Amino acid sequence: KQWLLRSSSGEEFYGRYCVMATGTLSSVNQPKFAGLDKYQGDWYVTGRWPHDGVDFSGKNVGIIGTGSSAVQAIPVIAKEAKHLTVFQRTANYSIPAKNRPLGSNEVDDIKKRYAEIRKEARESRAGIASMKPGSNSAMSVSEIERHNEYQRRWDEGGTGFTAAYSDIGTDDTANFTAAEFVRDKIRETVNNSVTAELLAPTNTIGCKRLCADTDYYETYNRVNVTLLDVNVDPIKGLVKEGVQTENNVYEFDIVIFAIGFDAMTGALLSMNIKGKEGLQLRDIWSDGPQSYLGLSMAGFPNLFTITGPGSPSVLSNMMTSIEQHVEWIRDCLSYMEAGGFREIEPKPSAEERWMSHVEEIAANTLRYTCNSWYVGANIPGKKRIFMPYAGGIPPYREKCDQVAASGYDGFNIS
Ligand SMILES: Cc1cc2nc3c(=O)[nH]c(=O)nc-3n(C[C@H](O)[C@H](O)[C@H](O)COP(=O)(O)OP(=O)(O)OC[C@H]3O[C@@H](n4cnc5c(N)ncnc54)[C@H](O)[C@@H]3O)c2cc1C
Repeated sequence: KQWLLRSSSGEEFYGRYCVMATGTLSSVNQPKFAGLDKYQGDWYVTGRWPHDGVDFSGKNVGIIGTGSSAVQAIPVIAKEAKHLTVFQRTANYSIPAKNRPLGSNEVDDIKKRYAEIRKEARESRAGIASMKPGSNSAMSVSEIERHNEYQRRWDEGGTGFTAAYSDIGTDDTANFTAAEFVRDKIRETVNNSVTAELLAPTNTIGCKRLCADTDYYETYNRVNVTLLDVNVDPIKGLVKEGVQTENNVYEFDIVIFAIGFDAMTGALLSMNIKGKEGLQLRDIWSDGPQSYLGLSMAGFPNLFTITGPGSPSVLSNMMTSIEQHVEWIRDCLSYMEAGGFREIEPKPSAEERWMSHVEEIAANTLRYTCNSWYVGANIPGKKRIFMPYAGGIPPYREKCDQVAASGYDGFNIS
C-alpha cells in the first residue's frame, strides 16, 4: 500500500509515507467581491505579493483589511502613494515591532549562544527564547507597577506584550488593563480623536493574533491617509473606478486585499486528499478538523501533517514547532522501518480524546471567545472550532514523547 500523488499535469508519484509540509498560512483568502472583474485598476493580494514589487508613487491606493499584513503594509505604502484609503472592519491591537539592525557584537553573542537559545525556545511555552512570561496575576500588583511593566514591554516591542501577566489570556479584568494601555497609546499617538477612537479596538487583546508594526498608528497623522469604517458604510463590491460602498464610490489606481488566509486547513483541504476506502479528508473535516496530536488522522495511514490542527502550531514560534514535528516524524519512521512495520494510523478513539482535550484547553482561554482565524471565522461557511492546541509547547512535547516512548500509544501499527 502506498500513497499516490497526482499533480495537475497528470504526473504520478508513489511513496509509502506522505508528509504534508504545506503550511498553515499558505492558502490565501482570495477576494470574492462582486464586480472585481469589472475593476479597471491594478489589484494585489498581500499573501501573493509580486516578487518584483509594486510602484505606488503618485497613485491613489485603497487597502481592504487591517490585520497583521495590512498593519505592516500601510505605513510603507502611505510613504509612497499619493493617497491611501484604509477600509477597516475590525480595529486590531498592534505593538511596536522595534525592528532594527543588529550590532556586530549582538550578532556574535547570539551566534555563540545558539545552542542555549534554541534550548530555551524549545522549553518555553510559545517556543520563543526571548519571550519572558510574567508569573504574577495582573490584578495582584499595583496600578503603577502594572503600568510600568506594560510600558517596559511596549518599549521593548513585540508580541511578548501580552505575556506581561499570567492571566491576560484567561481573565477579563486582567485583559482589560492590557487592552486599555494600548488604547491609551493609540489616543496619545493619533492626533484626530475620531480616527483614534476608530482605531482603538474594543475586543479582547490577544484574542485575534496580536499585530506588530512600525509606525502603524503614527501613519494616520499623515494628510494622505484616510481611515474608513465599513461597519458604518459597508463595501458593496468593486466597480470600474474602484470600491463601491453603500454610500460612495472611491476611485483607485490600485486596490490591495489584505484579507488573510484560510488558516491551518486551507492548504490541506485544497488537495483532494483521499484515504482508506476512498475517505475524503474534506468530508471527514466538514465539521472541523480532527487529528491525533495535529500529526496524523484516523483513516489516513502513513500520512503526517507538520504543524497540523490540534498542535501548538500558529500559537507558537513556527520554527520551534516545525522542528519538533519533523523530529517526531523522523523517529516514527525509523521505528516503523526498524520494526518491519508497514502502516501506522491513529485510533479514532485516541483522536477523539485528543481533540476534546484541545477544545477543553482552548475553552479556558479568552482566545476562544472572539471571531478570529484561529476559529476559522474569517472564512464564510468554515466550521467554528478552535484549531491550534493552546496548552503550550512543553506539555505538548511531553505528550508526543510519551506516545513515541510507549511504542506509539493511540496508534494502530501493523
Ligand atoms: C505574513 C506572515 C507572517 C508570519 N510571521 C511569522 C512569524 O513572525 N513567526 C512565525 O513563527 N511564523 C510566522 N508566520 C507563519 C509562517 O507560516 C511560518 O513561520 C512558516 O512559513 C511555516 O513554514 P512551513 O514550511 O510550515 O509553511 P510555508 O512556509 O507556508 O510553506 C508551505 C509550502 O507548501 C507549498 N504548498 C502548499 N500547498 C501545496 C500543494 N498543494 N502543492 C505543492 N506545494 C504546496 C507552498 O507553496 C509553500 O511553499 C507568518 C506567516 C505569514 C503569512
